[in-house]
Amino acid sequence: MNLVELMNAAPRCTATSKRTGGRCKGPAVRGWIVCRFHGAGGGAPECERNGNYRHGACTEDAVAARMLANLLQRHFRDTE
Ligand SMILES: [Zn+2]
Repeated sequence: MNLVELMNAAPRCTATSKRTGGRCKGPAVRGWIVCRFHGAGGGAPECERNGNYRHGACTEDAVAARMLANLLQRHFRDTE
């Protein structure tokens, strides 16, 4: 197998092209299903690395934990 065949065997980008309406077919970035042009490697950093981070009480995990605690509390209060 030569180098070009190896490169062509890489996983392909699944984004839809605005211009052609078909699949992008560019090589996907490792760990992503899309190529560089279609958003791989993007997004803001999480937690303290994000410039707008305050105290962590609003992170997805904290919000989910709070929601679960509230549901459990309601459940046990109603089943008393
Ligand atoms: Zn793409």
